[in-house]
Amino acid sequence: MKKIVILGGGIAGMGVATTLVSKGFDITVINKDQYYFTGPSRPLLLTGEQKYERMVRGYEEVGKKGIKLTVGSVYKIDPDERKIYVSETTSSTTKEVSYDYLVIAPGIIFDGSSINGYDKWWWKNTTVYDLGRVNVLKERVWTKTEGNIVVYAPKAPYRCAPAPTETAMLIHTILKYRGIRDKFNITYIDANDKTQPPFTADIVSQVFEKAKINLVTNQEIIEMNDKEVITKSGEKYKFDILAMLEPNRAPSFIKDSGLGDDYVDVRSPQDLRHPKYDDVLSAGDVAKLPFPKNQEIAFESSLFAANKIMEIEGISDKVPVQYAFVGWAYMGNLEGKLETYSLQFRLDLTSKPPKPSKDPELKKEYTLQKDNWEQAYLERLFSYKNI
Ligand SMILES: Cc1cc2nc3c(=O)[nH]c(=O)nc-3n(C[C@H](O)[C@H](O)[C@H](O)COP(=O)(O)OP(=O)(O)OC[C@H]3O[C@@H](n4cnc5c(N)ncnc54)[C@H](O)[C@@H]3O)c2cc1C
Repeated sequence: MKKIVILGGGIAGMGVATTLVSKGFDITVINKDQYYFTGPSRPLLLTGEQKYERMVRGYEEVGKKGIKLTVGSVYKIDPDERKIYVSETTSSTTKEVSYDYLVIAPGIIFDGSSINGYDKWWWKNTTVYDLGRVNVLKERVWTKTEGNIVVYAPKAPYRCAPAPTETAMLIHTILKYRGIRDKFNITYIDANDKTQPPFTADIVSQVFEKAKINLVTNQEIIEMNDKEVITKSGEKYKFDILAMLEPNRAPSFIKDSGLGDDYVDVRSPQDLRHPKYDDVLSAGDVAKLPFPKNQEIAFESSLFAANKIMEIEGISDKVPVQYAFVGWAYMGNLEGKLETYSLQFRLDLTSKPPKPSKDPELKKEYTLQKDNWEQAYLERLFSYKNI
């Protein structure tokens, strides 16, 4: 029985694991935690419209199906020896794991090291991207009574294109709800020439105008101190609350193992094998794909990876898959009710050029659809519903 080791038990990793578990493989998922926290609804923790307990899943129910779990952080890959190295944890002592196929899917990390002053003043910054930091951001937005707020998106690609603009709108909503919106300036700085994804930028700028959020594009933050951020062109923006997404990249063991510089190199979006190694594949946000980094692309890439392994092993059981996605961007609530409206958009990546579409009307119903979509993924990949 061929041994498939999957590095990362998130959307892409569990997509591969659950697709291949019934096909006669020995499957081990290595995840740094004993649980998984979903990403898309993290911004709604700010307004209290989402709760932590609805977002978390454990691996036990998929364990029943035969998927093995090793808890620990992978810190080294040796593709020539077909080995990966995992740190010891309280529930796992494994150090060295060998494989027949390796699927690399640890997602991305946030790297502020290119921003001068970040190592000293990192604690001034928060984002919606991480569970602890969103909690801090929530506390700051709900307790401060006046000042300047700066929200920032780095150069694309980064994980979840609309999350920074979502952050700005949700902050507006909370301050309006608290009756102190006029005591704050909110500035949204984007390192790209348009807010992301670009085909929704027209709607975002209209909503920002109504919310009186200052929109600055094409400005990359390269320096920070305790009071201001400074962009490449020398502009300074004062902040009392900072929600700056750091540039994204693959964990450094990818580069150290010669598997790619910023992300893991792959042959093509459909053939996710590493160009040098037939038995090393990658999926999800960490893979170097010419697409936005989001959950649907992560899942679709995992199906392409699973199909490739089945093809090599002569299993004629391919799963139907193509690259396309539907997305919902939280747009907050202009009047300050804690009931978020969302923008719905789609991008079909099978047509050339890729075909975007969107509904210009913001709807509360779309926020609910996004929640249903997120919960459906969790149920599909972890085999149980939230009660
Ligand atoms: C705030 C936020 C909002 C988002 N909004 C949307 C949205 O609206 N729509 C959308 O489609 N997508 C959205 N996303 C993006 C979506 O969550 C990701 O694209 C998706 O989770 C990527 O899947 P992945 O498997 O590559 O990474 P993940 O799902 O992050 O899984 C990676 C797994 O690998 C584990 N891991 C990491 N490093 C190691 C290591 N060294 N050793 C062992 N295990 C490791 C992690 O613990 C994790 O369990 C959002 C994400 C965030 C954070």
